[in-house]
Amino acid sequence: MAQVRLNHVFKRYNNGFTAVKDFHLDIKDKEFLVLVGPSGCGKSTTLRMIAGLEDISEGELYIGDRLVNDVPPKDRDIAMVFQSYALYPHMTVYENMAFGLKLRKFKKEEIKERVHEAARILDIEHLLDRKPKQLSGGQRQRVALGRAIVREPQVFLMDEPLSNLDAKLRVQMRTEISKLHQRLETTIIYVTHDQTEAMTMGDRIVVMRDGVIQQVDTPTEIYNKPANMFVAGFIGSPSMNFVEGSLIEESGDVYFTTTGAKVKIPAGKASGLREQGYVGKEVVFGIRPEAVHDEPVFLEASPDSAFEGKVEVAENMGAEMYLYMSGFGEKWLTARVNARTQYAPGARIKLAFDMNKAHIFDKETEKTVL
Ligand code: ATP
Repeated sequence: MAQVRLNHVFKRYNNGFTAVKDFHLDIKDKEFLVLVGPSGCGKSTTLRMIAGLEDISEGELYIGDRLVNDVPPKDRDIAMVFQSYALYPHMTVYENMAFGLKLRKFKKEEIKERVHEAARILDIEHLLDRKPKQLSGGQRQRVALGRAIVREPQVFLMDEPLSNLDAKLRVQMRTEISKLHQRLETTIIYVTHDQTEAMTMGDRIVVMRDGVIQQVDTPTEIYNKPANMFVAGFIGSPSMNFVEGSLIEESGDVYFTTTGAKVKIPAGKASGLREQGYVGKEVVFGIRPEAVHDEPVFLEASPDSAFEGKVEVAENMGAEMYLYMSGFGEKWLTARVNARTQYAPGARIKLAFDMNKAHIFDKETEKTVL
């Protein structure tokens, strides 16, 4: 069993800086876990502690049932894939893949078998005699993966393995790594700053900020029920709109009001806000661009959640358009609408929110209220 348990783990660097604070998580056997967050949030440090490349300052790390805080990297039964690939330039692909096994004194036949099997899985059998410099970026990445696969480790650790590839190849390799995970049935812990990679690859996502876990959940839950404004804004593209304003009560209904407009909060959500004492208070309203609608049917059905605004910028993405609108709050609001209607900058149009998908955040703590 290859579950990985981090028990209240801290990393303090020698200069006194705490890069990881109270990281507490059980990673399940065969799980694809993605650590995501902006640059400097501590995700690589966490991965490097699991690999044994950094000491753990406080807390315990278990791989399987074994406490490994003081176990050297080579004895942890893990394999790590780096962003830089770290291939040996003077060795062939075969030699690169075989190297770790040779060091561990595997028999020649066993090495040959494992390298060929991994090469077959990764579709690089025809490249085994080449040197790294004779390979494309994508092929090099496959070799780096192959070198990890031949070890048949309990756990794979991957640190931004796709960030050196161009956009198209990245999408392709993303799918391949997901397929590889299904096939190998091992635990993968994967670090990225790219929220799309996290959303598409992870069984669960850990969102980190300033060394602290913000939320751990499935991609769908993280997307639909973000724990706070940071997670809400980090996951999803284009980002969620945040609008400052207040909640007010009028004739028994609760409204969110901001510069230029006011929208009604659905009764079910309103009662929750009342109970928590948010009516009459300043809050932040959150709405994802795809929950802002321009379809006439939607507008007619939702007069209480509509506003009239001005198209400031319109970006045509082909199948859809991103509209940057003024008229709801102080800042521009992004709407992601179908491209069947071509809007020009300056146009005044009506849009409406799907209020069941609206979020309310506490202005002070930035935590999700609803
Ligand atoms: P990136 O995506 O940029 O790699 P990250 O989330 O992986 O970011 P880490 O590399 O884990 O971030 O670094 C976390 C924090 O710890 C950063 O603020 C970094 O400057 C700091 N840090 C990293 N290594 C050391 C070190 N050896 N000494 C002191 N501080 C360090």
